[in-house]
Amino acid sequence: MNDRHQIITLPHPSLHKKSAKVFPITKDTQQTIVNMTTIGLDWEDHHAHEVTVGLAAVQINKLEKIIIIRNDFDNKSDRTFRALINPVLLKADGKKVYELEGCLSVAGFYGRVKRYPNIRIKALDEQGSVVKISATGFLARLLQHELDHINGKTYLDRLDDNGELYRMMPNGKLNLLTDVEAESISSELRR
Ligand SMILES: [Zn+2]
Repeated sequence: MNDRHQIITLPHPSLHKKSAKVFPITKDTQQTIVNMTTIGLDWEDHHAHEVTVGLAAVQINKLEKIIIIRNDFDNKSDRTFRALINPVLLKADGKKVYELEGCLSVAGFYGRVKRYPNIRIKALDEQGSVVKISATGFLARLLQHELDHINGKTYLDRLDDNGELYRMMPNGKLNLLTDVEAESISSELRR
């Protein structure tokens, strides 16, 4: 199948590339957003224990600065997303906190990584209007995760000495990997 219509996973080289700024916003941009939404939801429908909360265009192998963020994280039946184009971090503050993070492109694993608790970003919406978002907690974490994607990074690049890597088992439970296992998987996936 054409991989433009699939989620790409590590070690796919595109996941290490920086995405290009979108200008102007065209019908193609809007089509990309539709594709991202469809593919993200299709992925969720095929992964019983997962929810698609956000996606960056690079994850469908489109190197453009576009991300989508689910409107309601806690309600799986709300299948709508908002698109943010050319997002930039304006401000990040507070003491960084560790939380678990997953990624459709790091299939089968979860990592505990550090992120800022409070951020402010600027982006364009689908119509090209400037939007500014102040975010805390999970939304702040998710936006930092997606901003990393458009800069060619995944959360594995953020795993530090106190970070932990977990493997998701078929029953949906997470198994903590030893430091040695985590290091070997992380370097294998990032090669
Ligand atoms: Zn991701």
